[in-house]
Amino acid sequence: MKILISNDDGYQAPGIVALYEALKDVAEVEVIAPEHNNSAKSNALTLHSPLYVHQASNGFRYVNGTPADCVHIALTGLLGYRPDLVISGINNGANMGDDTIYSGTVGAAMEGFLFGIPAIAFSQVDRNWVHLAAAAQKARELILQMEQQHLVGHSPWLLNVNIPNLPFEQIGHVKLCRLGRRHAAEPVITQVSPRGETMYWIGAAGAAKDEAEGTDFHATTHGFVSVTPLKVDLTDHDHLGYWAQTASRLNGPAPLPATTQAGA
Ligand code: MN
Repeated sequence: MKILISNDDGYQAPGIVALYEALKDVAEVEVIAPEHNNSAKSNALTLHSPLYVHQASNGFRYVNGTPADCVHIALTGLLGYRPDLVISGINNGANMGDDTIYSGTVGAAMEGFLFGIPAIAFSQVDRNWVHLAAAAQKARELILQMEQQHLVGHSPWLLNVNIPNLPFEQIGHVKLCRLGRRHAAEPVITQVSPRGETMYWIGAAGAAKDEAEGTDFHATTHGFVSVTPLKVDLTDHDHLGYWAQTASRLNGPAPLPATTQAGA
């Protein structure tokens, strides 16, 4: 089994080191990850500046780009072969519900999926690396089970996995979940710079809004490992009918804006 590992916390983050250490004896593993923290970079690609790849003393390669850049260049030339599995993480903090839209951890895995390779994004729920080795052990077990079930190296799928920060023997079993939802993010934070300009800092993610049974929030709160299959098609299939009726009314000649007089 050939595995490509990336992340969004950067190649020096404890989470990617733990994931590599947990898998290096059961697979051919290569690490290609961002040089710096790229949290919330989603699927961003760097198009207007060159990317450089360097190798750290532990063999990890690092890139002055985004998580998706790392996987993209790995799969389109850098690796020179096709891995059986792309994994990302282990992220420092949960990627549940709406987080998956912004997450660079998910973005790296999704890039693998878009190239037709099975991919998994791993995150630890709390942002403190507590019980990280247990989470890496859980990731290893999951991957070995998937290999045994012949899920690896064939048709692509994309899984989002969140692991509670618990000792190994206290981590519950894998629970298939849908994504929950968060409240809108906290307000932007403003400060005044030393030069007198207002600076804006993006506020924290909102608390869980939909954490009902069946969601990733609910499962991890109760000690289980949440596993959610993700898809890339953002089409609102439930409302295609509604919009079909509405769209037909949008095809006529556009009315003049109320404030604009004809001939003005
Ligand atoms: Mn991160």
